Amino acid sequence: MEEFKKFLSEPRNLLILSHKNPDGDAVGSALGFKHILTAMGHTVTAAVPDAAPGFLKWLPGHKDLIIFERKNGKKAAAEAFRTADMIICVDFNSPDRLGDLECLFRAGTSPTLLIDHHPPQEQFTDMTRIDPTRGSTAELIYLMAVSLEMEAMISPDAATCLLAGIMTDTVGFKVSCSYPEIFETVASLMRLGGNKDRIYEEVYGQFSSDRMRLLGYSLVQKMKIIPGTGAAYIDLTRAELKQFNHKKGDTEGFVNYPLSIGEVIFSVLFTEQEDHIKLSLRSTGNFPANEFASRYFNGGGHLNAAGGRFFGNMEQALKHFEGAVEIYQGLLTNSKS
Ligand code: 5GP
Ligand code: MN
Repeated sequence: MEEFKKFLSEPRNLLILSHKNPDGDAVGSALGFKHILTAMGHTVTAAVPDAAPGFLKWLPGHKDLIIFERKNGKKAAAEAFRTADMIICVDFNSPDRLGDLECLFRAGTSPTLLIDHHPPQEQFTDMTRIDPTRGSTAELIYLMAVSLEMEAMISPDAATCLLAGIMTDTVGFKVSCSYPEIFETVASLMRLGGNKDRIYEEVYGQFSSDRMRLLGYSLVQKMKIIPGTGAAYIDLTRAELKQFNHKKGDTEGFVNYPLSIGEVIFSVLFTEQEDHIKLSLRSTGNFPANEFASRYFNGGGHLNAAGGRFFGNMEQALKHFEGAVEIYQGLLTNSKS
């Protein structure tokens, strides 16, 4: 922290990066930190590999976020890497989460810093500020700003971005927030102008009717509970998604619903992508969704929230999943009590 503070004592060019399929914490942390560092007099760029869901596009500063896969994104990102005095990674624990930005990151020569709340995997930056006990990276950025005596630089826009990261990663203060200090951070961010009501309205209150119907279809027609295992899943093919005019982010949160069923402690959403099947995994209690994802589905994440990929068709993915659930049956049963 002392080193970082000293580094920031003169105006710098900074590049903030976050992960593929950016969620509220990725975008909220990147933009929130960008607002704070800009207020301090630094020149800051933030970039992500691909676009965020529509319900995050209202976040203050989103219009200046570089989206690498977009037209102009590659040029802007290359320029930002070329001029950066430091690259700050937020909310991911392995460089492959940078998707197509990974090559530029690996080729970069600037010093690198990682701020994250995932359990650490490999060390891929020069400096790290990692705390897996926190519910979001956005909370870590707020705490870091306080310890660097930068709290006065947190504008209402910055506070709203950070609060959005905290709210979305805790699923509206449901998970990963069973420690009182988080609510002190929330209170401080609200005092600084963080607009909780707007975040709720934009993130949870702007479904399209197609999205709501896709949720209904997923629960009524597609949710399967594997009897006696505590595991449930929903699988959605591209044709099904198309039927409901699927837009990026429409299935966000669907995976949480089966966990409200008493017997279910492990829930997985399979969505068919162009060249692979994407998995979202959620669990309650001690069942390690991240270990399951990394062992069987090329992924990882947190104990109770992880992601992964399967290269093959949906039928094969589900068969692979059912086989893996059988192997994990003992742990599933033990985690239930
Ligand atoms: P989601 O299901 O929302 O896509 O992801 C849930 C959690 O798992 C997030 O914390 C995310 O960062 C992590 N995650 C998602 N996909 C991957 C992946 O492919 N690899 C790793 N290591 N983590 C992932
Ligand atoms: Mn996060």
